[in-house]
This record gives sequence, C-alpha cells and structure tokens, in this order.
Amino acid sequence: MAGVSSNYLKKRLLKLQVGFLLSEGPGNSKKVPMNLPRRIQVDNDLFLESLAGNLVLTRTKEGILMQGALGLTQARECDRCLEAFNHTFDLRIAELFASPPDANISAFAVDSNGEIDLAPLLREEALIEESYRSFCRADCRGLSAETGVNLNYERETGADPLMQIEGAAAIDPRLAVLKQLLE
Ligand SMILES: [Zn+2]
Repeated sequence: MAGVSSNYLKKRLLKLQVGFLLSEGPGNSKKVPMNLPRRIQVDNDLFLESLAGNLVLTRTKEGILMQGALGLTQARECDRCLEAFNHTFDLRIAELFASPPDANISAFAVDSNGEIDLAPLLREEALIEESYRSFCRADCRGLSAETGVNLNYERETGADPLMQIEGAAAIDPRLAVLKQLLE
C-alpha cells in the first residue's frame, strides 16, 4: 500500500525544462499542455486538487515568456456554511522568466538547470484567490445565526430542528452542547 506521502503529486512536476528553448533564438516558441488531474503539492502548506490547460513558452531576449491559461481546483471551506468543497478558478498567465535572472525585469527566473518552476507563480495566484470569498454554491444559505445549523440541509431534508441539530452535531462537536440543552 502506498503511504500517505504519495497520495499527492510532487511539486517537481511543476518544473518545466526550457534549456532547449534558451539555446534557440528569440521568437521561437513551444506549446506545453498541462494536465495534472490529481492533488499536487505547490508548497509546504498549499495544495491544488487539479491543474489543466495550455501554456505557450516563447524565447525572448530577456528569457522565456510564459503565456496561457490554466484551470485550477483548490479545496476550500465555504465562506457561508463552512463545508469543504472544491473551488475551481481560471488563471491567465503572461509572465516572463528572466534568463539570466534579473530582479529588475521579473521576480521569476529560469534556474541554473534550465528549468522554470510554476510553483511560486501558482502559490502567489492561489493566495490572491484565497483572499476572495467563495461559496460551495451560488445559493448557499449558510449557517443559522441562532443554532449554527447548516441551512442547506434544512431545505434538502425538511427534517425537524432537533434532527438537524443531531446531524450537525455529528460533524461539529461544538453543537453537542446545544443538542444537550434542547433535550
Ligand atoms: Zn456553503
């Protein structure tokens, strides 16, 4: 059986070899399809659930210009009902990876192995995306201000309030106290 550590893809897969492009003249480009359909580690504390799209890498005088669009999926907690869900978002990329590295031209650079690493770019974009509120669905009804019950379930099940508290308590131990009071 595979260990826990292999339940996700390593961020090594986010490195693209561009040495061949660097040795070509400015204007040469290559299309790079990306398809990582499994959970992948982007940083110590950051994972994406999937990543797919197309990138075009173009040799310029300053380095490698990366252009394209990626569809990303990230595990989030709904900002209304606090349930876990997969948030998908699109990322348009137009970023220069300088070669040789030059902070005045770009924060990103081709490394000494002739590779560009998507991870720092994805991390930056994921953190920006996380700063926006997101919901498990557009019409998420959130939590009851009085009982803390997830109102999405109330509509779906039509259960009486005590039953809902019971169901919610199975998920959230904080509600166990409330359940006791009602009993
Ligand atoms: Zn929600």
